Amino acid sequence: MSKDNPRIAILGFAIECNRFSPVTTAADFEQDVDIRGNQIVSEARSGASITMPDLPGFFTEMDRTGPWTPVPLRVALAQPGGPVEQNFFRTFLGDIAAGLAASGPFDAVFVSAHGAALAEGTDDPDGDLFDVIRRAVGPDIPVIAVFDLHANVSRKMIDNLSVFVGYLENPHTDIYERGVEAAKHMRECLAGARTAIEMVKLPLVPPQIALLTARGPYADLIRYGQTKVGGDIVNVSVMAGFAYSDSPKNGLTAVVTARNANRKAAADLALDIATRAWSMKERFKRGMMSLADAVQLAVAVSRDRRRKPIILADVADNPGGGGRGNTTYLLRALKMAGAEHVIFGVFNDAALAAKAHELGEGATFTASFNTREHQEFSLPFDCEAKVVKLSDGKYVGRRGVLRNVSADMGPSALLDLGGVQVVVISYRCQCMDPRQFEMFGLDIAHARVVVVKSRGHFRGGFDEFFKPEQVYEVDCPGLTSPVLANFTWSKLPRPVYPLDEETTWTPPAAA
Ligand SMILES: [Zn+2]
Repeated sequence: MSKDNPRIAILGFAIECNRFSPVTTAADFEQDVDIRGNQIVSEARSGASITMPDLPGFFTEMDRTGPWTPVPLRVALAQPGGPVEQNFFRTFLGDIAAGLAASGPFDAVFVSAHGAALAEGTDDPDGDLFDVIRRAVGPDIPVIAVFDLHANVSRKMIDNLSVFVGYLENPHTDIYERGVEAAKHMRECLAGARTAIEMVKLPLVPPQIALLTARGPYADLIRYGQTKVGGDIVNVSVMAGFAYSDSPKNGLTAVVTARNANRKAAADLALDIATRAWSMKERFKRGMMSLADAVQLAVAVSRDRRRKPIILADVADNPGGGGRGNTTYLLRALKMAGAEHVIFGVFNDAALAAKAHELGEGATFTASFNTREHQEFSLPFDCEAKVVKLSDGKYVGRRGVLRNVSADMGPSALLDLGGVQVVVISYRCQCMDPRQFEMFGLDIAHARVVVVKSRGHFRGGFDEFFKPEQVYEVDCPGLTSPVLANFTWSKLPRPVYPLDEETTWTPPAAA
């Protein structure tokens, strides 16, 4: 080991798990990202990585600040979905343990994480991973990880880490910057800084649409936390959690990392933030527009050019939260109501995309949606259609969360249903970057109504076309419905606010 040229193990494990979605398999990781060894390094330095952007951010800052030697192990990411199949997760853990044993000794470990995973057989795979890492490298080696602000945080996670870095923005447009931040902390830890992490969790599980950070209660909390960074406070992360994980770890959690091993400072600040969050809990309630009202509005807007165009978010079928990306409630209703100049993206249906590819551009046919998938909310729908344009589905995002990220929707097709043009894809993902329409020749600025299957990340990509007041969240059925009372919860600690109005919280005794 060398302080002049530190050897840093690099790994990633990121998935957001929705208890109500189908199990996430090895094939799902394979389709998204499951890479090892030098491919990790070349992706991180490529300028358009297939990994989460924190990895290139970390590499860029480490490269800028002096010599270091990355020792890449494995990076596995999958689209949000159900709990990870046990065999895949066990094998992944074993791989990481073996890699750390075989390629050490290390000066440090960096993990591109998410924090809201579930696996068959464990409700805290993230905690299990950090436990494995800590056991392998011992108590004194810096282990730093970056987390999505939707992470469900456990003691097991923080107790095995040196610095906990959570995203500050939702839509997540700061992932790259958080990787840069992690590298700065890494340099400080390598220089000998001693840290302590503390957390305070609340019985507060806000609906996911109430967690935007441009304005609102969550924005206020995060901003408050950031005013406290400095002195002995290294990092403040206010983690809202991911409701649909339905796990014992659910609950908004303030996580604070302090330097000089100042555990009391970390604990005091975490308690301060949690107390503040609880005092504003009523502000985390948020309504939506009914499907009927949304369709009526869409028809009116599509027929009256004097009105501003709108974007309708199908928040209950958000693949970015484990939705299947194939519910037809909005599609059918808009088509039946005669809405025009509508562009709709992206609809996950590999069989339909394959059919379009088989027929070719210009062909007309009866498009049958959801012939292959039979989830509770994935209802069939038939409609006359024309194949407008075909694509292999590969693109590099240009704005918001996916800026400079290489993404792949699989074989895809733009279908014209008459009044409604829909992008049909093969690899399930949410619609959050303008490229997902533009690659088919669609001009977003000319659409009257844009429909996206996304909870909120689309705001980061489509903000150049739509102001917040032109955005409507539509209340449809689905695996990611913000109406938490729609679900049968099994592991969520109860009572929890706002699901249980009577929920109370007694702050832990001050540190
Ligand atoms: Zn997230």
